[in-house]
Amino acid sequence: MNYPNLFAPLDLGHVILPNRILMGSMHTGLEDKAGDYDKLAAYFAERARGGVSLMVTGGISPSIEGWLKPFGGRLTMPWHKPRHRKLTGAVHAEGGRICMQILHAGRYGYHPLSVAPSRIRSPITPFTPRALSARGVERTIGDFVRCARLAQDAGYDGVEVMGSEGYLINEFIAARTNRRNDAWGGDAARRMRFPVEIVRRTREAVGRDFIIIYRLSMLDLVNGGQDWNEIATLARAIEAAGASIINTGIGWHEARVPTIVTSVPRAGFAWVTQKLKGEVTIPLVATNRINMPDVAERILADGEADMVSMARPLLADPAWANKAKAGRSERINTCIACNQACLDHVFQNKRASCLVNPRACHETELKVEPASVRKRIAVVGAGPAGMACAATLGERGHAVTLIDQASEIGGQFNYAKQIPGKEEFHETLRYFRHRLADTCVDVRLGQVADAASLRAGGHDEVVIATGITPRHVSFPGSDDPRVLGYLDVLARHQPVGARVAIIGAGGIGFDVAEFLVEHAPSPTTDVARWTREWGVDMQLRQRSGLQPPQPEAPARQVWLLQRSEGRPGARLNKTTGWVHRATLKAKQVTMLGKVGYERFDDQGLHITVDGEPQILPVEHVVVCAGQEPNRRLADELMAAGMKVHVIGGADVAAELDAKRAIDQGTRLASAI
Ligand code: FAD
Ligand code: NAP
Ligand code: SF4
Repeated sequence: MNYPNLFAPLDLGHVILPNRILMGSMHTGLEDKAGDYDKLAAYFAERARGGVSLMVTGGISPSIEGWLKPFGGRLTMPWHKPRHRKLTGAVHAEGGRICMQILHAGRYGYHPLSVAPSRIRSPITPFTPRALSARGVERTIGDFVRCARLAQDAGYDGVEVMGSEGYLINEFIAARTNRRNDAWGGDAARRMRFPVEIVRRTREAVGRDFIIIYRLSMLDLVNGGQDWNEIATLARAIEAAGASIINTGIGWHEARVPTIVTSVPRAGFAWVTQKLKGEVTIPLVATNRINMPDVAERILADGEADMVSMARPLLADPAWANKAKAGRSERINTCIACNQACLDHVFQNKRASCLVNPRACHETELKVEPASVRKRIAVVGAGPAGMACAATLGERGHAVTLIDQASEIGGQFNYAKQIPGKEEFHETLRYFRHRLADTCVDVRLGQVADAASLRAGGHDEVVIATGITPRHVSFPGSDDPRVLGYLDVLARHQPVGARVAIIGAGGIGFDVAEFLVEHAPSPTTDVARWTREWGVDMQLRQRSGLQPPQPEAPARQVWLLQRSEGRPGARLNKTTGWVHRATLKAKQVTMLGKVGYERFDDQGLHITVDGEPQILPVEHVVVCAGQEPNRRLADELMAAGMKVHVIGGADVAAELDAKRAIDQGTRLASAI
């Protein structure tokens, strides 16, 4: 049997779960409007079909005060139940199980009605919460209980009580946010009464045959959080109050330690869950950066936890569990933890999706169905756009030839995968290698496609996915061999000196800076090294799990430059940009805006900063100044009258990323 621990059943008393895979809660943006619940039902049904044993919905508020944002999803009235029945009905029809997460946002609520144990604003929201009165606390506990009862009526198999990540319950538990002196604050015992009463009264209301998962903050990662004894005491009290499962919560949203981004080592926090083993007898769930079956199996085999939770990995591949069970792990479309289409979308109030799987949360709209007319189609360029397009065309039954001049598929992903903390990009390339083979795409590598060969090829249609050309910059000395392009560094591996200036502070400039300052192997491969660098106390002797960070000395001295005013990196992605900025700061990278490039010579790079001249004593300059579309071939073919489609960077290079490239390739292929 493949992954025997992962596929061992789990007996919860009234129900036996078929395996140890929990799909963790993930806000998709479809929870908030009744009209979106058919889409949400299709999303969950596809994942239930994929073999996961238990799923948890995105957070649903038990009251208006508890909203994450105005008019966010809530379950407070009997007439809210029918929309939820769509989800439970669809999941049960596929043989799956689903719990609803009850999430009271507390002071993270992005609206003026938010409440909290004390009147303390969070650093990440503009609204100061109202402090709950003692009656208000009782009423809020009642809201949780009513919400759980309504969820039970709506057909859910259970609820998850969200007690971590810095939301209301966590705010009660931590002295950081609970300054009360009544029965609900003052010392640790009174601060934890709130969650214990919620679980106790919920269990009383729903009876024995209903799952209650409690999401316990096991590592707050903010000052004024809990110490380990308090966490273990709370866990025991939560078990005694009637919880069926304890899930792990790592880090408040305002914490300055990354917890889920791609540079966090795989299973980088499973050791925290393990620490709780033996304190309680109910199953414990490990979370965060678990994305492949071998990692999940190791956690269970080593006894670190009884279940594993994955949210984003099941967005990326709904059939994750079935593939693992069938011994087809190499076919899993692995979550690369980029956050680009999931969390970043949610923070922008957009519907979530997935960079590597654009169908996620669009199951009813983006369909891949057999083609009515089978065509011969050439796709030029095997970068993300071309790979996604060719594989989807192949899946639909077209005869597809995918041509790339390089010796391997992947385009720019072959450079991205070398960046420390972006090792997961290897997985996307592995996935596409298998998918292209499975869909019978004829992959021709090491071939430069030109207009003549394509015209002679007998193709009905041609898709041009030839990507981009790096933008050149010109100033006196820019033709010196010591002025490199990013491809000289990442593709041709030219040696780079001890002091380097990078021209351009976009996504690639930041990545190249990280490549130049980190020592190999990447810290992402070593949990102990990574936690030391970020200041996480693996002994859990310090309150909140925090200790002073101990960054390693940089491998090189780097200056990161941009012409525009303001903070470099301000336009990086919402949920990950701060990690890149903090990483480079820890590596003492000098980031400068309002820079003019004057000349390069033996003294170094001569620049002006806000008009003031400076010489950076660098041995090399690396240019990362953006990209231009590479569409000459498309223009030639169009001029010759061929039916041509242009996607990815070849279409528009400005603000191109792999999310757009894969989405555009998939959508085009689903429509040809
Ligand atoms: P490309 O990936 O550029 O692929 C084009 C392909 O066409 C190439 O393989 C090329 O060899 C081939 N080709 C061109 N002309 C011909 C021809 N005439 N005949 C045959 N083959 C031809 N994006 C993200 O979303 N997230 C990230 O974290 C991220 N990190 C990055 C890090 C780095 C260091 C780099 C360089 C890029 C990163 N990107 C990231 C950007 C992302 O890789 C690109 O947006 C994406 O690769 C664009 O896809 P594409 O298919 O349009 O083009
Ligand atoms: P970019 O994000 O557009 O950044 C280009 C940088 O070069 C900017 O800092 C720009 O700033 C500077 N620049 C532009 N023209 C210049 C010129 N003529 N002379 C000097 N400097 C110039 O592009 P990129 O870094 O090449 O990245 C390419 C794409 O890949 C981006 O769209 C990005 O989103 C994507 N990518 C994404 C990630 C990710 O993690 N999501 C990572 C890497 C790449 P000034 O104009 O102010 O100088
Ligand atoms: Fe994972 Fe990125 Fe997809 Fe989110 S968008 S599920 S982080 S691969």
